[in-house]
Amino acid sequence: MPLQNTEKSNWNYPTTIWFGNGRISELANACSTLGIQNPLLVTDPGLATLPMIAEALTANRAAGVASELFSEIKSNPNGANIEAGVKHYNSGQHDGVIAFGGGSALDAGKAIALMAGQSRHLWDFEDVGDNWKRVNAERIAPLIAIPTTAGTGSEVGRAAVIVDETHHRKVILFHPGILPSIVIADPQLTVGLPPDITAATGMDALSHNLEAYCSPGYHPMADGIALEGMRLIKQWLTVAHSEPANLTARGHMLVASSMGATAFQKGLGAMHALAHPLGALYDVHHGLLNAVLMPYVISYNRAAIENKMQHLARVLELEPTSTGVDAVLAFIIELRQQLGIPHDLTFVDIDATRIPAIAEMATHDPSADGNPLLLTKNDYAELLANAIKGVLS
Ligand SMILES: [Zn+2]
Repeated sequence: MPLQNTEKSNWNYPTTIWFGNGRISELANACSTLGIQNPLLVTDPGLATLPMIAEALTANRAAGVASELFSEIKSNPNGANIEAGVKHYNSGQHDGVIAFGGGSALDAGKAIALMAGQSRHLWDFEDVGDNWKRVNAERIAPLIAIPTTAGTGSEVGRAAVIVDETHHRKVILFHPGILPSIVIADPQLTVGLPPDITAATGMDALSHNLEAYCSPGYHPMADGIALEGMRLIKQWLTVAHSEPANLTARGHMLVASSMGATAFQKGLGAMHALAHPLGALYDVHHGLLNAVLMPYVISYNRAAIENKMQHLARVLELEPTSTGVDAVLAFIIELRQQLGIPHDLTFVDIDATRIPAIAEMATHDPSADGNPLLLTKNDYAELLANAIKGVLS
C-alpha cells in the first residue's frame, strides 16, 4: 500500500517512533512524556541556523519547555565537542537531550546524554568487551532523537561514533541506555536534503540492510526487516533523489533508514570495515564510500552469499541472470549510475603505498566480524585495489 502523506503512526519497535508529516509539532509533548522540562537541543552548526531549529525551540518555549541550543560540534564530532556539550548540559541544569539532525548531531546528542552524569572518562565506554557495564545507567539523560537525513539510522541505535582526536581514530561508544526513548520521524524535515546527500545517505541505508542480511548468524527478525528495507530503497531512493519534495518517497526512505540500523544489530561487514578507515583518513562521505565499495564487496563475498542473493533477487523482483549475485550486482551498478555515484575510488586519490595500512585497519574494525567470509589483511588489500581500479573480482 502506498504511503499516504497524511498518515501518522506510533511504533514501539525497536523504540517508540512517532512517524508522520508535521509531527515535529509534537516535540513539547515528547518532552513532557519523558518528564523533560529543560532540554538541551544538540544539533550541528549547519542546521543550527535553519528555521526548523528556531521553530522547534520557539514552539517548545511557548509550551513551557525551556530549551537551549548546543551546536558546537564538528562534522565528525570529537571528544572535546562532547566534553563541551556535557559542560553546557550541567551548567544549564538540563534534564534531557534532544538530538536533532543527521548522523553527527544524533551521535553527539547521544554521547552527551550518556556522559551527562558519569564520573569516568568518555573513552572508558568504548564498545570493547563489557566496557558498557561501567556506565552508571541511572545517570544517562532522557533522550529524544529527530533525524533530518535518511541514512545512518542512528535514531534507533544504541551506539555513537565519536572521534578520539588525540589518536586519530573513530571510537564506538555503546550502551543500551542511549537508544532514544522517543524518535520523531517527520519526513518533512528531510525534503531540504540536496540530491547528492540524498543519494549518499540512501546508499548508506542500503548498505546497512544489505550487510546485515548477508551477515551470518541466525536472526530471522533482522533478515526480514533488512529485506523489506531494501525493497523500499529500490522503489523510492531514485524518486527521493529526482523529486526532493516527494513526501511519499521521503517517508519510505526515512523508515528504510531506521530499518537498516535496526537490522544491523545482527552485524555489518567488509563495506563498513573499509569505509571506516577510509573515512577517518580521507574526507569522503561515509555513505558515498559504502556506495562505491558495495559491488566489490558483494563480488568478493560471492562464494558465501549466493543463496541469499537468489532470495534477495526474488524479493526485489530483479531481472533473472545466471546467478543471484550477478542479478544483485547489476541492480546496484544501475542504481549507482542513476544516482550519479562513481564506479570506482579513483576520486579519493588513495596513495597505493597506504593500501596495506588501510587493509590492516579494516581487519581490526568491529564491522569486519559480521562479514560472511573472514577476510585477511591481504584480502582487504585486494578488495580495495579492485575498488580503486574498478574491477569486479
Ligand atoms: Zn553506515
